[in-house]
Amino acid sequence: MRPSSFMLILVSVLSACAPSPGEDSSINYMDSDTKRPNIVVLFLDDAGYGDFGYTGNPLIRTPNIDRIAAEGMRFTQFYSASPACTASRYALLTGRLPVRAGFGWVLTPNSPRGVHPEEWTLAEGLRDRGYATAIYGKWHLGRPEEYLPLQHGFDEYLGLPYSNDMQPPRWISLPLIEGNEVVELDPDQTLLTATFTRRAVEFIERDRQEPFFLYVPYSMPHLPLMPGAAFAGGSPRGTYGDVIEELDWSIGEIIGAINKRGLAKNTLVFFTSDNGPWIIKNEHGGSAGPFRDGKGSTWEGGMREPGIAWWPGTVPKGSVDHEVATTMDIYVTALQLAGARVPTDRTVDGHDISPRLRGSSSSGPRNPLYYYGPGQKLHAVRQGPWKMHIMTSSQTGIDYFEAKLPLLFHLERDPGERWDVADQFPEVIERLESLVSTHVTDVAAEGSFFDRN
Ligand code: MG
Repeated sequence: MRPSSFMLILVSVLSACAPSPGEDSSINYMDSDTKRPNIVVLFLDDAGYGDFGYTGNPLIRTPNIDRIAAEGMRFTQFYSASPACTASRYALLTGRLPVRAGFGWVLTPNSPRGVHPEEWTLAEGLRDRGYATAIYGKWHLGRPEEYLPLQHGFDEYLGLPYSNDMQPPRWISLPLIEGNEVVELDPDQTLLTATFTRRAVEFIERDRQEPFFLYVPYSMPHLPLMPGAAFAGGSPRGTYGDVIEELDWSIGEIIGAINKRGLAKNTLVFFTSDNGPWIIKNEHGGSAGPFRDGKGSTWEGGMREPGIAWWPGTVPKGSVDHEVATTMDIYVTALQLAGARVPTDRTVDGHDISPRLRGSSSSGPRNPLYYYGPGQKLHAVRQGPWKMHIMTSSQTGIDYFEAKLPLLFHLERDPGERWDVADQFPEVIERLESLVSTHVTDVAAEGSFFDRN
């Protein structure tokens, strides 16, 4: 870490919050009942809700993902915080809406920006509590060295700094980075899933006393689809199916390593995807299942993700959670379980869902969900079952409701957003419009670290 970044983080830690949850004297870390669990986040790139056996796909074989769903808890209303890569990953690792960092969408290879040093990432929070931390896979939170994972709480990194299609001829050669060093240019992408898997398994197998945080943001099924040789041509769903089936194999290897080390009862695994399927790529993109649209859109298909929590002995086996949860909740929940501090000197949008993970029906009232589209534009808000669109966009170019706005859908009765009922419920529209106006004012008032520096 550069001294300047270190000082910034140190200053923000020292000046941040009092009291901080990490200093709560009621938490006894030596008590085995409150033993800090290992945290594993398995994060697919552009996989859709409907790409797995357990969500109804009849063609793609995902026995390992189906097994962790059956052994753990599956979520039916699990959201990413953005329908695009960079913004979604920022939210996962900071618990904050991407707009709070001024992240609108996706960083390109020549972008000078990244995750700001004053952000407090999940890796920093867990490492601060003594966790060993590693990321194997796609970063996409800044290419300049000061923004790479080692400068944001990770002890180890092997992976791509951004998407696997950001390569020649349009871009410079795609680097594979280990730590802060480029170790290969334009690597053979058919080896990537297996490489990330091997490194993740080696990390789990290491002898250590401290807990660990393992983040595996796979670079696929983002295009180009590059399945390993053992999977190419094997799936009835074509190359897209081959890639998902290899990812399923990888997840089986990682869960197998956790089981083999006897760590299952002390390891919380989250499985999800950064955004919806790239449906404009036709058969090379995935399926959003029952939801409208996909990647790049604030229709449900762009942000409603598969979501599984697996923690044998703690998360009830075969349970289903039908309440709203988001990737930002992973941040807060993991920090709380680790007894780590959740920043209070900035807005954190995630919620602690650990009571729900233990089978309690609710974690209490939560904030509305805000759906941001391209250019940090607020597109929609959801409160309870109601979702109001004030803008819409789709990479398909289709305007499904012919420019009528606002649109209102009852997502529990109509998860596919088929029937606009705005005219029937003016009082709901009025309530949601008032939420929007307060939210927009609050976000503008807080600004971002980039604005302030
Ligand atoms: Mg993506």
